[in-house]
Amino acid sequence: MPPKKPSVASRRPAPAQPVSVVTGGAGFLGSHLVDVLLARGHRVVVIDNLITGSTDNIAHLAGHADFRFIKQDVTEYLYLPGKVDFVWHFASPASPIDYLELPIQTLKVGSLGTHKALGLAKAKGARFLITSTSEIYGDPLVHPQVESYWGNVNTIGPRGCYDESKRFAEALVMAYHRQHGIPTRMVRIFNTYGPRMRVNDGRVVPAFVSQALANKPITVFGDGSQTRSFCFADDLIKGIVRLMFCDKATAELPVNIGNPHEMTMLQFAEEIIRATGSKSRVVHKPLPQDDPKQRKPNIARAKSLLGWEPKVPLSEGLKPTIAYFRGKLGLA
Ligand code: UDP
Repeated sequence: MPPKKPSVASRRPAPAQPVSVVTGGAGFLGSHLVDVLLARGHRVVVIDNLITGSTDNIAHLAGHADFRFIKQDVTEYLYLPGKVDFVWHFASPASPIDYLELPIQTLKVGSLGTHKALGLAKAKGARFLITSTSEIYGDPLVHPQVESYWGNVNTIGPRGCYDESKRFAEALVMAYHRQHGIPTRMVRIFNTYGPRMRVNDGRVVPAFVSQALANKPITVFGDGSQTRSFCFADDLIKGIVRLMFCDKATAELPVNIGNPHEMTMLQFAEEIIRATGSKSRVVHKPLPQDDPKQRKPNIARAKSLLGWEPKVPLSEGLKPTIAYFRGKLGLA
């Protein structure tokens, strides 16, 4: 029989071409990472079960010779032929509404999914990076949050499924690093925004922007005095990529990546009204249980280890973000 012509999916990478596996690569942040990796010449395999991700985020990559998509739950055994150099474990629901609706999947992807992704890295001799979260600090009693702070989490509250799955994941990553010598990296992501966030994911950026664009009331939870600090997705991905490729001593320890520009949710609502030119007014809704009162990253470690700091101010990052939501809402 003549040899079968390799399809795009089974094409073997050139020996020097790095191969990256991105779990959650059809999600908001995962898909931005995939674009960056392809631009850097990687061959990229995305694994995503699409429960919160969307093929819309990767549709532009269809037919790309270096791109492959596998629809699979990352908590199930991951079999991939060939070499893998980097495993980027991004898969997880990431919005409070999502983890209220999907508490068990949230716990499973942080625990069993991290186990499978680490197993893949171990089998392939790959470097591994996990996206952890500022949520591991819970409702923080230390402000701004520094990596050495151990956090204040309600294990049985509505956010416990996310916070504890990521805390477990960090412990598992360190165990694989210590026991198996796997080169591992951990990024603690603070609030991030940008194109490809789901319009209805319930997080404050899509909620306020879509309300403002429709001139509907802006739903501020509680009195709006709680704070967050918003990082533009491109800035965040640059920091994460630097961390994966960082070879310095202590690079295996967690690194906060976020924008330290802190604001109250009332200030944020006003900023969104201004940026969209909206006629919306603020209305107050009950504050969800265990909503952290304040959040701001201390990024001294990212600066010294990676030479990274965010460059995009909120007013700039909001422009493409608002344009994206306009398109999604059919207002473009
Ligand atoms: N929030 C709000 N109105 C909304 C959605 C969220 O006031 O319609 C608040 C929420 O209570 C929290 C902040 O915005 O204090 C950020 O919420 P988000 O869901 O984006 O993520 P979190 O940072 O809480 O994980």
